[in-house]
Amino acid sequence: MKKDDCIFCKIANGEFNTEFILETDKIVAFRDINPQAPEHILIVPKEHFENIVSIDDKELFCELLEGIKKVTEKIGLKEFRTVINTGKQAGQTVFHTHIHILGGKELKPTFD
Ligand code: AMP
Repeated sequence: MKKDDCIFCKIANGEFNTEFILETDKIVAFRDINPQAPEHILIVPKEHFENIVSIDDKELFCELLEGIKKVTEKIGLKEFRTVINTGKQAGQTVFHTHIHILGGKELKPTFD
């Protein structure tokens, strides 16, 4: 289901003509507007789920994870970090779940 005031619902459903690196029936991938690395891509389900633990569709889970492989192969990124923030305390700012892919430079360990 789509949530009217959700920016990622709008992007994922094509309302802003965003360039998609990947699009399937269930997911899209596009570049982060405020990149934290030379490559910073978000993998986002088309359906609205607030966070990763609210997803109740196993196929969607698989597709999101498969999206990591497809996107990184497509752009030739062999070494990268994946991040999924869940909840405000963990740094989630957009409450439509997404997987960050960050790469293209040496990344420091960040668990603070
Ligand atoms: P998080 O803090 O894990 O919720 O990540 C949200 C990410 O969405 C941030 O890295 C933002 O820069 C990114 N973001 C917010 N709005 C947009 C947008 N319109 N297009 C692309 N990325 C966005």
